[in-house]
Amino acid sequence: MKNTTNRMGGGKKLLVIAAFLFIASISAFAQNVYEVDLNKKPAVSDDKCLTFDKATKTFTVKRQNSSEWAGVYLSLNNLDISAYNIARVKYKVIGDYGFHFVLDYDDNTLDWNYDKTTYCPSYLNEMVIPLKSNQKRLNGITVSGAWNVPYEQFVIESVTLEKVANPQKTDVYANINNDPPVIDTARNGTIDEKLDAWDFIKETGTGLQYEVFICYTLDLDFGMDIYHSMGFSKSTKEQIHSIKEKGFKTLRLQTNPGMGHLLDSSYTIDPRYTKAIKQVVDWAIAEDMYVIICGPWAELTSKEAYKRKIAEGNIHFAGYVVSEKDKKQSEKFIKAVWKQYAEAFNNSYDEHLIFETLNEPVDYYHEHAFSSRPDCDGCKKDFEILNEYNQLIVDTIRASGGNNASRFILVEGLVGGDLDGNTGITTNLFKLPKDKAKNKLIPTMHHYPMGAVPDVCKNYYTDNIKDRFNQIFATLDELYFSKHIPVYISEVGHIRKVPIMERINCMKDFMSEVAKPNRSCAVTMHTNGNPEWDSGYYDSYKLKWYDTEYIDTILYGAQGKEYPLSAEFLKNNETKIESIVGKNLLKEPVEKKNWGNGFRISSNIFYRSTPAKYKIEFELERTGSNPILQLAYNDFKNNWHEGSNTPMLKKIRVKGGINQGNIAVKANKVILTIDEDLAKELVDGNGVYLNGQDIIIKSMTVVE
Ligand SMILES: [Zn+2]
Repeated sequence: MKNTTNRMGGGKKLLVIAAFLFIASISAFAQNVYEVDLNKKPAVSDDKCLTFDKATKTFTVKRQNSSEWAGVYLSLNNLDISAYNIARVKYKVIGDYGFHFVLDYDDNTLDWNYDKTTYCPSYLNEMVIPLKSNQKRLNGITVSGAWNVPYEQFVIESVTLEKVANPQKTDVYANINNDPPVIDTARNGTIDEKLDAWDFIKETGTGLQYEVFICYTLDLDFGMDIYHSMGFSKSTKEQIHSIKEKGFKTLRLQTNPGMGHLLDSSYTIDPRYTKAIKQVVDWAIAEDMYVIICGPWAELTSKEAYKRKIAEGNIHFAGYVVSEKDKKQSEKFIKAVWKQYAEAFNNSYDEHLIFETLNEPVDYYHEHAFSSRPDCDGCKKDFEILNEYNQLIVDTIRASGGNNASRFILVEGLVGGDLDGNTGITTNLFKLPKDKAKNKLIPTMHHYPMGAVPDVCKNYYTDNIKDRFNQIFATLDELYFSKHIPVYISEVGHIRKVPIMERINCMKDFMSEVAKPNRSCAVTMHTNGNPEWDSGYYDSYKLKWYDTEYIDTILYGAQGKEYPLSAEFLKNNETKIESIVGKNLLKEPVEKKNWGNGFRISSNIFYRSTPAKYKIEFELERTGSNPILQLAYNDFKNNWHEGSNTPMLKKIRVKGGINQGNIAVKANKVILTIDEDLAKELVDGNGVYLNGQDIIIKSMTVVE
């Protein structure tokens, strides 16, 4: 790797010093300065997680878990701030994470994060925050530790309120040292041009999702301090080593340069961001790992906070959407990002570095965004547009020449593929780009067999789940494997609240499909960097792994082996399911004044917890002249079922009412008879729903 030096460095430093003196002189001549007396701050936070040493002005955060706030409040007794227009915080961070500074205006209509909180990043020493011009009084200020960080220290030298000529907020996204663009200047690279993707993917082992370069929140401006927002610590060499030691052979780096790492409206990427990626890539390759650099993800472009930044003309932010309307701008953005990545990573890297076009590209504004339908014109159009984006990326990478002319590229399908199994790459609507290089493109999808979202995930591994991924593999056989094209699954995973044996049994079967000898397939396992989170299998601060039997099942499975579970583990982790007979399934009464969104009950509740057939007894209160109760459900494939379209529901025997598709409630107790066929449907669906009108449902109890 060539160490690029900034030849202009000396001159620019002088300019910076001059600018600093100029700013300092404004400050010295400020008309009004009010210095906050930090000595009045409590020495210890209420939750004991933050201590303040008044002698050294040092704040120390020690958290046991990330839900602890670690903040102290200093009352300013409703201070009149009309004479000032900025707050200035002078500080020094010892370590990798900054802190949150809150101006608590006397206005409870303001949003705590967006309107009141400023993150002071670790790499700056001063933060200027313009006061809101419509605010006259300040209740107080708060200082708290950065989110999720277990230990950190910072010194606050002073907090002042001032009146200055030009109240400008410190830009935490600015390239303060004028670092030059990161360019890979190695002239001669070596890459195995003849290596075939089919043989290559078999060598990549199991990957780990390493989400340190995507900042998920847009509520606050973190600048370059992005790692902790995703639950990870700032990357270290030791961290990468521990990942390798655990048995992972590939690292997947999702990136999102459009979320605060652009320097201008031409989408120039902040060199600090590229350098940080490069550092991790270099550490991983030194460990003889493979590294995937994944292009931007689309998800955050749908958020209100993002739209607000774009509307304000914030040049540090940009994104893409798979849609005709956004195509022109999206293509410009995608092309700019990949041109710069291809310049930064080329001849210094052989086939150990892999590119992946995009992460979960989606058309948020189409009704089938996450469950596309091959027979819908809008969805067809979205596939066409994504195919064009992928082509543009492949062309841009190839045009950079050198090793990139024959580098392996993972090509992502629409949304990364969803649970309906009809999106992503398992359809003829997805096309691999045309490529000058031979056998270097790899179609790529994601799969969360039991769901990735806690509220709607499956708790139990059922035949339907197995059938679904078996069907996906059968389609992959037809479309790719039979044609000597490998497939990469760049995200697979389970959330940890699902009983571990259910997850293990699921991944045992899934990995046996992945490892079948007539296929060339590999996976990256998804994790968060914080074990308190839904998918937190790894504590990146302590370098500690959780649910290792689950992880080892994947690692062994990738080699076509079964991880041997001890008898003790099996005994202690047997999935236990309690009977729900006689239990009220409602935590509190559900009132249905009129038809609207149904009240959802997770289908998981019915799994092996009832007899083969049973009754449901409802205690109701009738609140109007036409009380109606509806029992409905979403089946495994997400099709909606209610009395009017499902004979099984129409046939329900009812005591205490009349079944007219929906149930006309005639008494305060209604009993429904659920036969064996309907019971099976309710178990493995995507939710049972209660709806209706003029009723309060006081209880819902399964009886034999
Ligand atoms: Zn559609």
